[in-house]
Amino acid sequence: MRVAVFNTKAYDRRFLSEANAGFGHDLHFLEPRLEPATAALAAGHGAVCVFVNDIVDAGVLEALAAGGTRLVALRCAGFNNVDLAAAARLGIDVVRVPAYSPHAVAEFTLGLLLAVDRKIPRAWTRVRENNFALDGLIGRNLHGRTVGVIGTGKIGALVARSLRLGFGCDVLASDLYPDPALEAAGVRYVPRDALLREAEIVSLHCPLTPDTRHLIDAAAIALARDGLVIVNTSRGALIDTAALIEGLKSRKIGAVALDVYEQEADLFFKDLSNEIVSDDQFQRLLTFPNVLVTGHQAFLTEEALCAIAGTTLQSIADAEAGSALANRVDAAKIAPAR
Ligand code: NAD
Repeated sequence: MRVAVFNTKAYDRRFLSEANAGFGHDLHFLEPRLEPATAALAAGHGAVCVFVNDIVDAGVLEALAAGGTRLVALRCAGFNNVDLAAAARLGIDVVRVPAYSPHAVAEFTLGLLLAVDRKIPRAWTRVRENNFALDGLIGRNLHGRTVGVIGTGKIGALVARSLRLGFGCDVLASDLYPDPALEAAGVRYVPRDALLREAEIVSLHCPLTPDTRHLIDAAAIALARDGLVIVNTSRGALIDTAALIEGLKSRKIGAVALDVYEQEADLFFKDLSNEIVSDDQFQRLLTFPNVLVTGHQAFLTEEALCAIAGTTLQSIADAEAGSALANRVDAAKIAPAR
């Protein structure tokens, strides 16, 4: 099938091209992201392949449909950037990669937590300047601390299990569907407010939905224990950034590690080192010594990129053959529940 692959970086081209040897799709790699101004580039392509920050709203989908596109293949798990109702109305199927490597994201989450909690980036900066003083680098043991995991699907379950069984944390969890296997491992499901009140560390792993948007807001931060550590590798808009900044300024929040950011679509995945970044909230976040930010890279392992490429190209092949789409995002099934 002819596929317009939007928003591609060198690593996307490498892994998709390698995997495509087994499929033979006609892949057209495009640098710009999919948005209203670039949708016309997909004309004549049966499928578009997009990533987390491409805009797949009703207007874009209408332009795609007019150009003959019948499939949107997300090379990611989240699908909050797609208007599923509009896609269904226009007869465009949407597929995603539901589980390319939950381990990639879970391991990065633990890395971020350890890094911010034990002040590893600050220590490295000092050592590079031959400053071996330890003042200001005191951390906390993870062992014995109470960690709240919000969303215990594929990624959250791995994080909860590692923290419980590997580090010996007291792990609280919140999810619409408690996982009995995690409960058997000693994870305790509690209502979200109870989790926010009790946890010393909160790690976010639920999808972005109307229910979870700004899940961490001023009210949630007010409930929390002093010195709360927040880790977010899920979606930026789970956190109200203005409230987060206020929480950091008041010292209610002890540390924050983010791999995702509410307004990341204007920043992440680009080299802006020669540009003026005009997002004042983002710049303010970077000024705090207890904030660590990475640019949405939790998924970025060789294993995950291989799996993403293979699953995406298989879905495109299934669509071309008219077979059932195992990874179809079904608006009717998903939207009301989450
Ligand atoms: P998943 O679907 O397996 O798990 C999500 C869990 O969240 C489910 O158990 C679901 O029941 C739960 N949930 C839904 N609504 C909830 C709510 N209101 N409160 C509590 N729990 C709720 O998804 P996953 O593969 O574990 O991925 C989790 C999230 O991680 C994705 O939605 C995506 O946004 C993000 N992600 C980020 C990266 C990255 O590189 N940073 C990579 C992959 C996924």
